Amino acid sequence: MFTENQIKSFGSKTTPFYFYDLDILKKTLNEVKTNAPKEYHIHYALKANSNPVILKLIKDAGFGADCVSGNEVKRAVETGFKPNDIVFAGVGKSDEEINYALDVDIFCFNVESTAELTVINELAKVKGKKAKVALRINPNVDAHTHKYITTGLEENKFGINPYEFDTVLNLIKTLPNIELIGLHFHIGSQITSLTPFKNLCLRVNEINHWFIEKGYLLPNINVGGGLGINYHEPDNEAIPDFKSFFEVFKQFLELKPGQQLHFELGRALVANCGSLISKVLYIKNGINTNFAILDAGMTELIRPALYQAYHKIENLSNTGESNVKYDVVGPICESSDCFGKAVMLPETKRGDIIAIRSAGAYGEVMSNRYNLRDEVRTFFGE
Ligand SMILES: *Cc1c(COP(=O)(O)O)cnc(C)c1O
Repeated sequence: MFTENQIKSFGSKTTPFYFYDLDILKKTLNEVKTNAPKEYHIHYALKANSNPVILKLIKDAGFGADCVSGNEVKRAVETGFKPNDIVFAGVGKSDEEINYALDVDIFCFNVESTAELTVINELAKVKGKKAKVALRINPNVDAHTHKYITTGLEENKFGINPYEFDTVLNLIKTLPNIELIGLHFHIGSQITSLTPFKNLCLRVNEINHWFIEKGYLLPNINVGGGLGINYHEPDNEAIPDFKSFFEVFKQFLELKPGQQLHFELGRALVANCGSLISKVLYIKNGINTNFAILDAGMTELIRPALYQAYHKIENLSNTGESNVKYDVVGPICESSDCFGKAVMLPETKRGDIIAIRSAGAYGEVMSNRYNLRDEVRTFFGE
């Protein structure tokens, strides 16, 4: 929901731009803090949105950081996240990235393969350090989300499979510069049912038990992120149900004495505070449909083109009844450059301001300059 003043100010700005409502962000962060038990550690997944203003707010609220590249680790450190609250995942960490993370003494590498363990050990040895690692495990739990954002199935490239556990433990015994401190899981993104998280808990219990039987009671269990948001109701349900989410882990995850629980939430924290604001350039009447052609395109927000993602689209200039169908498209030379097909909107004309809602996660961070587009702008409001 936008105030009249906000809508007026949008009209006077050069579009397109991301508008972030920092009030919603603060309320969301507060909800997480209110509902997460004290002993849960929440690391914010920077890849969802690494805008410095947003990062600083999240850091100030006391969250840790979850990074998937060396530059994200660097951005987290520069923002002021404590290195001891930073975890670093990714199937393809380069030597430079590993060296940087070793230099700043991050909390933990989430390691995705035996080959990576060997490389981290060698690089840590050169520095005379011991690298703290958690094994990223592929739990083979179906997240029931879009196939491009499912990560915890055997067929995915992520993590270490259970049949490799013995090999991994034998290997670790030969690596003096590796300290195994935990198990890590992340099954996917935009998960809107709690059932996959319950299934994850049950799997984690089994795997945790297996490691304990082998003599490894590991102090950290990291269950990743993936909690989804309601893209259809950005105003009625601006903040995900964190209470029920954490309840699942309280109820189903069996932590052993001394084990700490970690989360890596991205989308759930930032998606609903952001909207992509755009103007209608042209209305074009096609054979079967009307096109509303915006000045924003897949270069600013690629999620619809990349994963057929739904975003609510609103005409902020005309609040009348939505009784005309439009294909809402961008100006980029690709047919996939479409934000929504057959979207019901009020009669829409050139110059109208259009909001594409819930664009705070995986929006600005994925923007690019294809077609030599301008760098996307950002504005903040409360
Ligand atoms: C992307 C990612 C996350 C965050 O996922 P969300 O769906 O945004 O919560 C957490 N952990 C890892 C390892 C990731 O790759």
